[in-house]
Amino acid sequence: MRGPAAPGRGPARRPGIPGAARRGAAHARVLQHELRHALASGQFHLVYQPICSVEDGRTRSFEALLRWEHPILGSIEPQRFIGLAERSGLILDIGDWVFRAAAAECLRLRRSSGREVRIAVNVTQLQLASRPTTQLWVRHLQDIGLPCEAMTLEITERTMSQWPELVAGHLAQLAASGLRISIDDFGTGYSNLAMLAQLHPHSLKLDASLVRGLGACERSRTIAHAVVSMAHRLHMQVVAEGVEVPAQARISRELGCDLGQGWWYSRPLSPGQLLHSLAAAA
Ligand code: C2E
Ligand code: MG
Ligand code: MG
Repeated sequence: MRGPAAPGRGPARRPGIPGAARRGAAHARVLQHELRHALASGQFHLVYQPICSVEDGRTRSFEALLRWEHPILGSIEPQRFIGLAERSGLILDIGDWVFRAAAAECLRLRRSSGREVRIAVNVTQLQLASRPTTQLWVRHLQDIGLPCEAMTLEITERTMSQWPELVAGHLAQLAASGLRISIDDFGTGYSNLAMLAQLHPHSLKLDASLVRGLGACERSRTIAHAVVSMAHRLHMQVVAEGVEVPAQARISRELGCDLGQGWWYSRPLSPGQLLHSLAAAA
């Protein structure tokens, strides 16, 4: 049987922090360190998931999703590093890269398809708080000749409810310049419904956890139905997120959702596949 470690020998133990939590913190530190070099060494790329009409399944727009391919650690999911990037401030540079890369893709697609393609990017609190960043985006769009309406900023409901005054003031200015606003993951945060009245977002994305409940749960359908009615009366479109099976697509349509996103419609695509996705819809 092993006794307690002798003082001064073996790895130092911090009382009260379980091994798994300590390993998690160490891992986070490694990721954060790697994150600092990822942008400069070209380890990021974007994939684009179609957002489709629930009526005919045709691609209406795309959401840009960030991918990190580390040379040794392999693929790292956004949910493992976006929070770290936000806490360290790196999200400002990374998010700027995402916006510009997605805008360039949007312009390319518009030119090659002749259609009014729209692309959405996800933005966090810190990015919204940084007025210079978002002002530069508007200027950048003017410089490259892409109308602001082509780009949508997806902001989670949680972000909007955590920092209402700042986000509302800043978002209102961005929206006035023509950028579209979409409320992401609706139904998972504390819904700040008053902000919907102030902000005039263009769309609202019903979170996948609600969509998943639609088939089996009458109460989920009632909630979703109420959200759709509210959104439509506020002239917002509703996107059902995380649609994986035909029943979810059918019920989303029956409930009046306008658009759907999820594996049932399409997995996220590489840039080379986007024209085909649009062409299949034409
Ligand atoms: P999100 O904005 O809600 O994006 C949707 C997520 O659901 C994506 O995961 C997408 O791949 C996944 N998804 C789509 N359809 C289905 C489906 O049918 N079933 C399931 N199970 N999942 C589906 P991903 O790409 O891992 O992104 C996760 C989150 O990371 C995003 O959630 C977003 O909050 C954040 N994120 C991704 N890219 C960026 C970025 O460029 N900037 C920022 N700030 N956040 C990002
Ligand atoms: Mg999103
Ligand atoms: Mg979402």
